Amino acid sequence: MADLQALEGYRECHTCAVGKKLEASRCRFCTGRLDLKDRLLLEGEKGRREKGSIYLSALLPGAGHLYSGRPFVGTLFLPLAPLTLGLVWKGQGSWNWGMTVLLLALLLSWVLVVLDCRRGSGPFRPPCQAACPAGIPCSQYVHLLDKGKDRESLELIEAFCPFPGTIGRVCHHPCEEECNRGKDGEPVAICSLKRFASDQGAGLESIFPREMAKTSGSPERKVAVVGAGPSGLSAGLYLLLCGFDVSIFEARDFAGGTPLVYAPPYRLPLEFYQREVDRVLDLGMDLRPGKKLGADFSLLDLQNEGFLGVYLAMGAGVSVRLPHTGSESEGFLDGRDFLEQVKKDPGTKMGGDVLVIGGGNVALDVARSALRCGADKVRVICLEKLPQKREKQFFHHKGEWREIRPRDMRQFMPAHPWGIADAAAEGVEIMDGSAAVEFFIEGGRVKGAKCLRVERIDQDSKGKLVPVYREGTEFNLKADTVLTAVGSFPDFSFLGGVPVSRPVSRKAPILRYGGIEGVSIPVVAGGDMALGPASVIEGIAAGKEAALYFYRELGGAAPVSVRYRSRRIPEPWSNYRDDPQARRRRPERTLGPEDRTRSFSEVSAGLSEGSAREEAARCMRCDWPRMRASKVKKFFRDGE
Ligand code: SF4
Ligand code: SF4
Repeated sequence: MADLQALEGYRECHTCAVGKKLEASRCRFCTGRLDLKDRLLLEGEKGRREKGSIYLSALLPGAGHLYSGRPFVGTLFLPLAPLTLGLVWKGQGSWNWGMTVLLLALLLSWVLVVLDCRRGSGPFRPPCQAACPAGIPCSQYVHLLDKGKDRESLELIEAFCPFPGTIGRVCHHPCEEECNRGKDGEPVAICSLKRFASDQGAGLESIFPREMAKTSGSPERKVAVVGAGPSGLSAGLYLLLCGFDVSIFEARDFAGGTPLVYAPPYRLPLEFYQREVDRVLDLGMDLRPGKKLGADFSLLDLQNEGFLGVYLAMGAGVSVRLPHTGSESEGFLDGRDFLEQVKKDPGTKMGGDVLVIGGGNVALDVARSALRCGADKVRVICLEKLPQKREKQFFHHKGEWREIRPRDMRQFMPAHPWGIADAAAEGVEIMDGSAAVEFFIEGGRVKGAKCLRVERIDQDSKGKLVPVYREGTEFNLKADTVLTAVGSFPDFSFLGGVPVSRPVSRKAPILRYGGIEGVSIPVVAGGDMALGPASVIEGIAAGKEAALYFYRELGGAAPVSVRYRSRRIPEPWSNYRDDPQARRRRPERTLGPEDRTRSFSEVSAGLSEGSAREEAARCMRCDWPRMRASKVKKFFRDGE
């Protein structure tokens, strides 16, 4: 990669989309020259400014907009305060109804201005980027892949997500659901392209050591992170970049968290994730393994040790156990315990008929792992129905096409549709809309289950799901082993119960805990602890948001001075090409269904080089500026 420091202005930034030097006037609007640390601090600074702008706007409408970087709008609103005060002054002694209506209208505008100033001056984000929990600029890294700039593409991904290879394999890719290309064809394979970029860059040094060289932590400014999973490690990395010293406490003897313990190797081979975990830890975090919060130390101990804040990212470690499923000696097993066992020993054997209870992604992982362990027949039984096959429907709202989604989501399996399709292709029988209500035990072992069809799923006043059974639909299933995977929740025993909490960010679900006896430092929780079982990318996003929260609350490295602001005007579909090839998504190379169940080998080998380039070229660059549309076409035609 070109030495970024040696370049000046035009194309200095590896995300630069300006095709020709003559078009470099666009550099004026670009935030791309900021590196990872600068972007991070800018984000933290932006949050602080947004907060301040609300107070300023409440005192003087328009001042908040000026403060948060929207001078034109701010100037427009500045006359509002003199107008209101002038009206009150003029009306003294001769007040009438007309003046009352005018005053109410001015006050309403005042309130709206205060609400509006929170929006700040963010750059335009295409729908894929807006849908990504970590805000990864998909269109930009896909475009770099299209141009053959694999290293630059990977560095851009890494600037937003420290685990690109892992996320490229396990992300549930909400970005693809919003992709504009999916509205008249199949969405761009954004997730697979991320994996492609990571595979192409495997073995190269990541950007983090380079970024860390510019930062130095301070022993007096230290923050504790509890839990060394993706969320905790992400928080640790971004805290280091914000200038804090970080200690990570982990109950297990190793770092990595849920993906390392439970993700089946056929989806996420251990070595990929381990490599990415190690390179984050190598940046200088103080990892303290074998330390369990509540048993080996308390929050008060952390405060006494001088930590200025605590981020809790311990995951949702307690499985929900069904009361009627008996004990393990009778052929019942907890699904997560089974996954952990398989991960430790992929040679684990399991014969006979297996019944998996649950309709989520963990239940499917359990079922697919049981098949690979040699089970004769694997069935998944769940209350919910299979997601309906339906034509996508859209409506037009605020100049955009939005998809209409079913409202009553609890009636449908929470597992991802592609996971359900893969499990069914491998031979797992999915018994949706059914419930095992009683088990047959012979000689101390489970032998089968009595089941009923489910009419619908209601919810009681506490939010608990209550199935309504259909009369006369009883049927029996043979089962030599029953595996349960019906959810998990965080363990709050270290606090003696669920704490009082309040959300502290609009970007990612992180909660600040209050009312903890004797603890005055900020205690923030994120990932599974705030959301219940969350996806890996949501945990990573929460970790980054928690780091920014501490940066705002406790102060940190000096913020950057920003010369460039992005004010791109959205031009949906500026790279629009409509032909059968452009509508079709390029498939990943995968093992055939028969080969898959013979071992725990990775099912997908990702996109081939040719497919990846073709797939990247399908992206329509929805973030491209409208005024440059003609030049964009020329750029695509001429290349570079
Ligand atoms: S076409 Fe490209 S830029 Fe547009 S939403 Fe899809 S991935 Fe994003
Ligand atoms: S992390 Fe997931 S949601 Fe975000 S861009 Fe990648 S695949 Fe999409």
